[in-house]
This record gives sequence, C-alpha cells and structure tokens, in this order.
Amino acid sequence: MKRYAHKGIAAKLTVLFLSFLLPLCACRTTPTPTTRTGFAMGSLLTARIYTNADTAESMADSILKEVQMIDACISATDPASEISALNRGESVSLSADTLELLQNTLDLCGKLNGKLDITLGAVTDLWGFTGDTPRVPDADMLAAALATKDPDGVTFDGSTVTLAKGQMLDFGAVGKGVACDVACQVIDANYVVPAVVSFGGTVLCYGQKADGPWTVGVRDPFGPADSYCATIEFTPEWEMDCLFVSTSGSYEKTFTEDGKTYHHIIDPDTGYPVETDLVSVTAVGSGGFVCDALSTALFVNGLNEESLTWVDMYLYGAAFIFEDGGIYVTHGLRDTFQLTDVINFHYIDDEAF
Ligand code: ADP
Ligand code: MG
Repeated sequence: MKRYAHKGIAAKLTVLFLSFLLPLCACRTTPTPTTRTGFAMGSLLTARIYTNADTAESMADSILKEVQMIDACISATDPASEISALNRGESVSLSADTLELLQNTLDLCGKLNGKLDITLGAVTDLWGFTGDTPRVPDADMLAAALATKDPDGVTFDGSTVTLAKGQMLDFGAVGKGVACDVACQVIDANYVVPAVVSFGGTVLCYGQKADGPWTVGVRDPFGPADSYCATIEFTPEWEMDCLFVSTSGSYEKTFTEDGKTYHHIIDPDTGYPVETDLVSVTAVGSGGFVCDALSTALFVNGLNEESLTWVDMYLYGAAFIFEDGGIYVTHGLRDTFQLTDVINFHYIDDEAF
C-alpha cells in the first residue's frame, strides 16, 4: 500500500467530522458505531466506525498499525526513525514512502512561500513543545538554529538524503494529516464503511451514513476541548467521497514563562511563535496532508490575499477565527458553516481585511 499518497480521493461518500469537534447528529438507522482509540505521534487517534463490531475492530487495528508505521519513519523523537537519523547528521537511504513524503512536503513548503517549513526542526527542537519541558530558548541558540532553516539544504542522491550541517526536519505540521490520508486508504482498500478518524487536529470523514449528512462542530478556541462555536454540514450535494478537516490553533500547545504565554506555531522568519490576532484556522479539503499543511501555513500567513489564493488552490474552504471572536469563512464554506455561539462570535465580511 502506498502509505503517503495525499492527492484528492476519488468520490465515494460524503462525510465530515471535525477532530475534537463533535459529531452532532444522531445515528438513527446506521449501525451503532464502534469507537477505538490508540496513540501515535504524541496524539490520541480515535476511530469511530459504522459497521459490525468485528469488522470495526479489524479496521481500527489496521489503521493504527499503518499510522504507527508512519510514525516510526518520520518521528523526530524516536531515535530509531529515518528522520531522527537524518537529524543526527547521517546520510540516510530513505524508504520509498518517506522519500516521497519528504519531497512532497518540501515542494509544498516552497509553494507556500516558506510559511510552512519543515527544515525548522532545530528551532522547534529548542522550544521543546513536543516534550514535557517546553521553554523559551536562549536567543543566541535560537538564532543559530534559525540559520539552519533552508529547504535547499536538503540534498538528494537517489534515495539517499543528507541535511545541511546542524539542520533538522520536523514533520509535526503535516504528520497527522498524512496519517489521516493513510487511514482513508485503509478504509478505501479494504472496508468501505462509514467512519470518522480523528487524530490531533485533523479529521477524516469517510462514507455516508444512512440517516443523512454529517454535521460537525468547529472547536471553540476559548472553551474547553470538547466545546464548539460553529458547525459545518456536509451534504451529498458536495459529491465527494471523503473529507478532511484540519485545525491549527494557538491554544493547542502552550506554556507560560515570565507571565507571557507561548504557542507552538512558529514564524519561520523569527523562530518565535507567530505574533497574530488569529486563534485558529480550520482547513477543509480532499486530502489530510494538504489540510494539515495549509491550516498551519494559513495560521502563520494570516488572513490576506495570498492566503485566500492558497485556499483556492488547495482547499474547499477555510475558516479563520480571531481573538476578538471574529470569524472569516471563505466562499466555499459559507453555505455550510453555521455559527452556534452568536454571543461570543461574529462573522467578518470581505471588506474587513
Ligand atoms: P498540531 O500539531 O497541534 O496539529 P499543527 O498542524 O499546526 O498543529 O503543527 C504544529 C507543529 O508543526 C508544531 O508543533 C511544530 O512541530 C511544527 N511547526 C510549527 N511551526 C511550523 C512552521 N512554520 N512550519 C512547519 N512546521 C511548523
Ligand atoms: Mg498542521
């Protein structure tokens, strides 16, 4: 199985579920779903599968196994991974899937004008957001780490890859999206039953329940993890097989030092967390990799003409949520995006930026 494919998935069913976002519809005529959880990439993976329990168990096992295999290749924290070996300065003959993912990701980083940059690994390593002790790095060390950021510093000799001196890769911005693509392939190839896979900030919805379209909730950035402030409904008229939704938010991984709170989405120009009045960006599209990459890149880039061009190129739509409760929803989502909390949130129109 080609584990890292991330292109659009051909049409089959309609679904969507927004990760931590809640499936809000009742399931009247579909089978009682089986829910299974697992752990990979430092995040909880939840698969909710609408078929008989035996099939659901086997499908959940297959998905988790595949995702853990990806993790074993691209993890920057597992010393045995291919990426960890690269990060230690070794030249590594990469497996075909990892090589393809690396090339695709570097390619997309270039197209997103460097706002997404997986060669920021030395910088993100210093911040330590994935570990137990995140901290503000020493300024000189941070400057030195930032100097290693350079997509052109990754050199290829056939399948053998070498990083520039001191350079490190970090797939944190795309890994869970890639995993959701793989989950989609597992379902597509073997089961073809309605399912929702929620993994960190990215969700795959596959299939169509007999009792109608999925309605999903968009996480309330100011509330607890299970709260939502809006819904998105995906109807069969969308004519798509499966949908992916990815949210990047500044509330996701934070720590406070000397009274200032720091979040985990890094401005590639400064090496520090992005200074922005955004609190989250939700990307909706036909691929997990693309949605995960874009939610991060759009958060870094902010709401502007260039970002809207990226939305048009790569996504069905996106929702930008600001710290004052303003929400900008791109045209592609406007028919389906519905505010549920009209007290604390309000729409921003096209003239507002
Ligand atoms: P989450 O990991 O919560 O799903 P994102 O998908 O937005 O959130 O990815 C954030 C992670 O990506 C960070 O924890 C870090 O590892 C990495 N990262 C942060 N900023 C950037 C950036 N500008 N480009 C590439 N990767 C980044
Ligand atoms: Mg991301």
